[in-house]
Amino acid sequence: MEITVVEGDLTQQHVDAVVNAANRHLRGGGGVDGAIHRAGGPAVLEDCVRRFPHGLATGDAGWTTAGDLPARWVVHVVGPDHRAGETDRALLLSCYTRAVEVADEVGARTLAFPLVSAGVYGWPREDAAAAAVEALRSVAATTGVTEARLVAYDAAAAALLRDALGDAP
Ligand code: ADP
Repeated sequence: MEITVVEGDLTQQHVDAVVNAANRHLRGGGGVDGAIHRAGGPAVLEDCVRRFPHGLATGDAGWTTAGDLPARWVVHVVGPDHRAGETDRALLLSCYTRAVEVADEVGARTLAFPLVSAGVYGWPREDAAAAAVEALRSVAATTGVTEARLVAYDAAAAALLRDALGDAP
């Protein structure tokens, strides 16, 4: 599995599955979650309600349709809410490893990730980038996923991710 970094809008990625930084309720929210539901249309929320009537636990992942998005699936992950005191890094690592497991379940080969927990949930961005790379590297040899694309919403996040990957200029 190759880990790549691009700057752009997660919702517009042409990959098999986009990963959503959701909340435990899985009924939509702000940030990238809101963007996915807006761009994906009502089918995404309908599938969330049907498949996850009780939502998901922090650190867990689950798939739904991607509705109108270019991707086929959304893999929803629930990042820890650092701002609310959820500072267990294992939960953040788990979001990435569980997302890859769910991708393997459905047969998704290419995945695009946001920087989970690094927005509204307030995880320090540099460590969020390091955790993303660390977690993805830990499963790189054992997954059928061929590309894990880390999508940075701005240049600063892209620089952090490239630093974490170790190929900064
Ligand atoms: P969380 O609640 O897990 O912190 P957020 O959606 O608030 O999730 O933020 C996660 C990261 O996603 C942040 O770095 C934010 O800048 C970024 N982000 C927000 N919208 C998009 C988007 N459309 N594409 C890619 N990244 C996005």
